[in-house]
Order: sequence, then C-alpha cells, then structure tokens
Amino acid sequence: MFTPFQNEPYVDFSEPGPRQKMREALELVESQLGREYPLIIGGERIWTDKRDTSHNPANPAQIVGTVCRATPELADRAVRAAYAAFPAWSRVPPEVRARCLAKAAAILRRRIYEFSAWMVYEVSKSWIEAYADTAEAIDFLEFYAREMVKLSGGHPTTPYAGEENEVRYMPMGVGAIISPWNFPLAIMAGMTCSGIVTGNTVVTKPAEQSPILAAKFFEVLEEASIPPGVANLLTGYGEEVGEVLTGHPLVRFVSFTGSREVGLHINERVASHHGEKWIKRAILEMGGKDCIVVDEDADLEAAAEGIVAAAFGFQGQKCSACSRVVAHRAIYDSLLDRVVSRAKPLSMGDPTRENVAMGAVIDDVAEKKIRDYIEIGRSEGRVVLGGGPRSGEGWFVEPTIVADVDANARIAQEEIFGPVLSVIRADSFDHALEIANGTQYGLTGALYSRDRMKLERARHEFQVGNLYLNRKCTGAFVDVQPFGGFNMSGTDSKAGGRDYLHHFLLAKSISERL
Ligand code: NAD
Repeated sequence: MFTPFQNEPYVDFSEPGPRQKMREALELVESQLGREYPLIIGGERIWTDKRDTSHNPANPAQIVGTVCRATPELADRAVRAAYAAFPAWSRVPPEVRARCLAKAAAILRRRIYEFSAWMVYEVSKSWIEAYADTAEAIDFLEFYAREMVKLSGGHPTTPYAGEENEVRYMPMGVGAIISPWNFPLAIMAGMTCSGIVTGNTVVTKPAEQSPILAAKFFEVLEEASIPPGVANLLTGYGEEVGEVLTGHPLVRFVSFTGSREVGLHINERVASHHGEKWIKRAILEMGGKDCIVVDEDADLEAAAEGIVAAAFGFQGQKCSACSRVVAHRAIYDSLLDRVVSRAKPLSMGDPTRENVAMGAVIDDVAEKKIRDYIEIGRSEGRVVLGGGPRSGEGWFVEPTIVADVDANARIAQEEIFGPVLSVIRADSFDHALEIANGTQYGLTGALYSRDRMKLERARHEFQVGNLYLNRKCTGAFVDVQPFGGFNMSGTDSKAGGRDYLHHFLLAKSISERL
C-alpha cells in the first residue's frame, strides 16, 4: 500500500520559482489574518466568550488570529468526547488509520507554502525554517502511517508445541497532547497523529503562542476524514486546562513537549492518583543546553559555520540550538573570531519580507527573559557581539555572543531559549567533554575533530540523546536522526524513530492451547 518512506525535500529560496510561490502564499495568508477560530470537541465547533489573540512577533500590532479560550469544564468535555470516540476508532483497522494520515500529509504537501507562510506570521520563522517545519510535519505523518502498518501484525514469538502464541499491539485510550510553540506545526501534528494512528483518541492543547497553526491543522484533519471526537482541539492556558487534562482520571497517557519546569510538574501530576484504573504513561520531551565541542585539530571554518547556524537559526529558539561552545584553548581565539565574523552579517527583521535570516523572538516575555540573561552574561563573561537594545517594533534580539564564560556560570547552565551563545575555554579534550556533560540536560551535542579516537570516545562519553560528529547539532530529519534527549531533557522517546509508536500502544500476549 505504501511506497518506502522518503523525507520531504526542501526548496531553495534563492531560486525565483520557490520565492514567487512563497510571496503568493504570504499574500494569501495576509488576506486571512485576524479571523476567529473555535474549539473542536466531538466534531462540534464551540465558541466561548473569552478569546485570545495571536500576534505577529515581528509586528505585534498585527493580529494573526483569535482563538476561543477553553474552560476547565470544556477540557473535561473534550476528554469525555475522546473517551466516547475511543471504542469505535480503536477498532478501525490500522491500515485505514494510516491512510487517513497519508491523506492529511497529501493535503499539507499541496499547501506547504501556505502553512509555511502562517508560521512566518505566527512565530516569526524565516522562510526556510518555516518550510522545514512544514516538511517535517509531512514526514511525521508519512512515517508514522508506515510504522503503524508494520506494527499491525504484532511481533513473532518462539514456537511452542501445542499452543498458538501471538503478541499484538493495542491502543491505550485517551491521550492528552500538550505541545510547544517553537515547532508549531511539526511537533503539534507529529504528537497528535502518533496518538491517533495507534488507535487512541486525543485532546490536543497547543501552546498559547501558536494556536492558529493548530486550528489550521485541525481543518486538515477534518478534510482527511478523521472522525469526530478522535482528535479534539482545546486552545487555552496550560495552567488552567492543561492541568485538567493531566489530572483527568479518563486520560490514559500524556504526550508533552516543552520546558523542563512544566515537564517535571506533569511528571508529578501523572504519578498521583485521581481514581484512574491505570498508571498514566507520560512521554515528556523537555529543554536543552546544547553544546558544540571544537577540538584543537578541527576544521575551524566548518565548525564556525555549524555553530552560527545552530546557535542563531530561528533566533536560537530550538530545543536543539547550540547555546554553548566549548573550544580547546589552542584554537579558542581563532574560532571565536570566525564565529563572530560569520554571525555579524546575519540579517534581522520581519520575515514576511524577503532575505531575512532572523525574525523576532516569540513574545515580550521571552524578549525580557533573554535580555535579563544578556545582563547576567555581562557579569559572567565578555560580550563580543550583540547585546544592544531593541530596534524596531517587534520583539527582536540581536545574535549575542558572550566569550570567556565559566562552565558553571548561569548562562552556561540555564536554558535561555534565545540567540545567546556562551563560549567556554577548555584545557584539553577530556576537560571539554567534562564541560559538555556538566549540565542537567542531555539533548543534542556536536564534536568537531579530525581525530578518529576522539570521535569514537564522543560516541561513548558525550551524554546526549542526539550526537553529531563534524556537523551542526540542529536539523534532525525524521527516521534519519530519531530525536529525544537524556537526563532533564526528557524521556528519550525518539520522535520520528522506529520505536516511537510503542509509547502509545499496549502489547498483549495471547496464548491458545490447541
Ligand atoms: P512550556 O513548557 O512553557 O509550554 C509547553 C506546553 O505546556 C504549552 O502548551 C503550555 O500551555 C503547556 N503547559 C504549561 N503549563 C502547563 C501545566 N501546568 N499543565 C499542562 N500543560 C501546561 O514550553 P514552550 O515555551 O511552549 O516551549 C519551549 C520549551 O520546549 C523549551 O524548553 C524547549 O527546549 C522545549 N522543547 C523541547 C523539545 C524536545 O523535543 N525535547 C522540542 C521543542 C521544544
């Protein structure tokens, strides 16, 4: 039924064709700005009195759209709608559920420029970053569809005389899907669809900062014939309706991606008992303090290129973003010069315009937090690039590099989630590895080195879920680099990997005496 999985290719925005298509998509989206979107519960569109607006971070006066704010009562109603839809959906054959995802992927592919344009407006992604996000959403849908078909036959068991034995995979029940704003389409769609292709029903609570992308994606699910109640959309506040979902006795699992603080809180919440018949399962993917180590014999030009792309792509607002560079003292100064001179010319502005490398950060709260960290950085190191005041109306923060930072400084330990890079000096390769592993996190990391033995040591000793050798630490592709971190970066679920769907399934062992 399915051809082998292939990643959705990117386009080159230096070519006139893709540029023109993106311009047209931005115009189309601009003509649709400011609309209102309901909750979707049990297939019903529900309009609430309280509404929340989503703004263009590069031009906050511009309203991208308005969504209805769910109440705790509506959160309960959404869980009950998902619970009611579960028996029928769980019996829909896996191939049919997979076909629904393939259809949704085809719709997204047809509208890839349009969805990317929504992302440019709602979260200030550059064109290529937005396109990559939409392409990743398509990949998740296509890949999970195929993986579900593979899992539908269960797995083989050792023959035993006089018995027929099988292991089959069963859906679990209702899932709460709680997603972040930084991959507002790919992560939200990937988490929602991994939940439903496995035969579960879900309530999706997207991030407050990017609800319009979720509303647009739910239009796609509807067009792809996902039955009412299978996927429910609950826009609203995490502290208010997210709490109801994670504590609800009818919720069987929580699939969360977001910050360490909220992830740990959800972990405690699912562990406490609210009358459930089961132990809730929690898949928690959290933050990072990702590091690129540059050894004394490394290709410094390649390293500087990788560092700048990983530190400042999407304004440093990726869980995988490079926020620490650990450089061997022998090459420290020449690497720093190269990184600064590559970062300096990065263009910053409203990405609805052409040729903008960096847009604004997501909101005023994020801007303040990042600026506070830059001030801390002034006392913890030497600001060698950026750090200046805001220019323009949007929530812009320049690429900022702080050199000579101590490995235990706050800016080297805490997730800033913005375009701020700390550069740390190491005395030796051993020292560099010790620094790299010296935070609570363990999401991504990279090593630039020409020494085979050091590369091999990193494979064993660099404690991260996603390790990159002689390349940048961002930009994982579905089923090429399955993604998920160690330690305080999460439960290492490996989204976009071949083990991922198991998180949403129960394995049932069945034995019949012949
Ligand atoms: P966040 O933790 O603030 O919010 C994530 C989601 O949790 C949102 O939908 C929010 O409404 C919800 N939420 C907040 N409080 C809640 C509560 N009490 N109960 C239930 N839900 C609640 O994170 P964010 O700012 O949206 O995203 C940025 C963070 O996500 C960064 O830390 C980043 O590193 C991380 N992230 C991790 C990965 C990964 O794969 N490991 C991927 C992307 C982002």
